[in-house]
Amino acid sequence: MNDKTIWLKTLDNIKNILDPLPFNTWFSPIEFLDIKDEKLRLVVPYILYKEHIEKIYKDLILENINKFVNNSIKDVSFILKDNLDSIIKEELEIKEEKNDNLYETESHINFKSNLNKSYTFSNFVVGESNKFAQAAALAVAENPGTMYNPLFIYGNSGLGKTHLMHAIGNYIEEKQHKKVLYVTCDQFLEDFMGLSRKNNNDNLDYMEIFKEKYRNIDVLIIDDIQFLGGASASQQEFFHTFNNLHNNSKQIIVSSDRSPEDLKALEDRLRTRFCWGLQVDISPPDYELKVAILKKKLKGEKIALDDDIINYIASNVGNDIRQLEGSLTRLVAYSCIMGETNPNVEFAMEALKDFTKKPVTDQNNIRRIQKSVANFYKISFEDIKSKKRPPNIAIPRQVAMYLCRKLTDEPFERIGIEFGGKNHATVMHSCNKIERELKNNKELQEAITAIEKELR
Ligand code: ADP
Ligand code: MG
Repeated sequence: MNDKTIWLKTLDNIKNILDPLPFNTWFSPIEFLDIKDEKLRLVVPYILYKEHIEKIYKDLILENINKFVNNSIKDVSFILKDNLDSIIKEELEIKEEKNDNLYETESHINFKSNLNKSYTFSNFVVGESNKFAQAAALAVAENPGTMYNPLFIYGNSGLGKTHLMHAIGNYIEEKQHKKVLYVTCDQFLEDFMGLSRKNNNDNLDYMEIFKEKYRNIDVLIIDDIQFLGGASASQQEFFHTFNNLHNNSKQIIVSSDRSPEDLKALEDRLRTRFCWGLQVDISPPDYELKVAILKKKLKGEKIALDDDIINYIASNVGNDIRQLEGSLTRLVAYSCIMGETNPNVEFAMEALKDFTKKPVTDQNNIRRIQKSVANFYKISFEDIKSKKRPPNIAIPRQVAMYLCRKLTDEPFERIGIEFGGKNHATVMHSCNKIERELKNNKELQEAITAIEKELR
């Protein structure tokens, strides 16, 4: 057996031991490097994977691989594929190691977690734009209060923040029987002001009730923290709640529609605290993720839809996943009312005309350009959208971005999304670079002319 086969056999063993969710999340991105000096060396995409796998699964890996090699492997090392985003790296550096000492708390009779059971990891579809957030969420769910505290999830509306937070809460409640409290920011403010009590004439001490509710828990999830706003008394109270929980190694999870740096109304000391842990963002879904989500949602419906209808929805309905779901519900309802069991694209167009403002096929155009460029340079379609940096991939990618900009009306942001979630600046930089190069580089000029010709 060669070393790679040994690793594949080990993986097979582990697959039989673990649930599919942790296995797929943590083990499928691992690449085998080699076995050297009694050490197995594996490559992982992000530091989060490295830390988490090291902490949780290292022994399992060792134990299983040693079944095939006569206990000759003494250690495993995990090597990072790419340098991590500098911000996240910084955060990880200032992160303090905490020991796993979550206090067991007895459950309260009237305690309500407010968790929505239908938001789970298993029905959260993972793609380029949300895979880091999903992995971070699962890491926290598997190990609350220890590594990434607080976890700060941000991104535009409708991209799955609330879903992920409930998934974490449900997971912790189910697997670890810890006490989880989910509240929206509004609920927190209301509780703080004692407004949720109907009877204001009783003698209850609202502050005590508040503290009882917010400090006697293992996990606090607060959604849409951007609404904490400028009210300084509530910020102060949130600050105390935060410190109290954090000092006791209780997990805090916060979501917002923007990054902590952009939460202008927030006091600096709160902003600083949000940066103690890990910040992850969710970007708008690309075409593939939209298709995957639609297919997943369709599984529960009575009606089957052809791929061309799914492709039509994915290309023409915007990036808000709520709208994507809405369009599907609408189409299913419309089909039932009209007694249409096998709708075609024209039918879908009619049913969804409120969802599709303009008949955009630009997303298709971007894909066409990506495919042509990949073809021309003989690399794969996946590579062109990836984060890989070798020049034989990076240059075609820049050419493709340049052509998207030149041949479609799409803004830099949109192009970035279709190239695996690159930001606006990266796309702009690529386009400028190719433009400059074109002036003197004959080979590049010919390549671009050839690709454009093919696209026409
Ligand atoms: P946000 O809180 O970011 O505004 P939500 O979590 O409320 O977004 O998501 C909006 C809707 O889209 C929810 O119904 C959610 O279940 C669904 N959704 C979002 N992302 C995904 C995903 N990756 N897989 C499946 N459903 C998703
Ligand atoms: Mg939300």
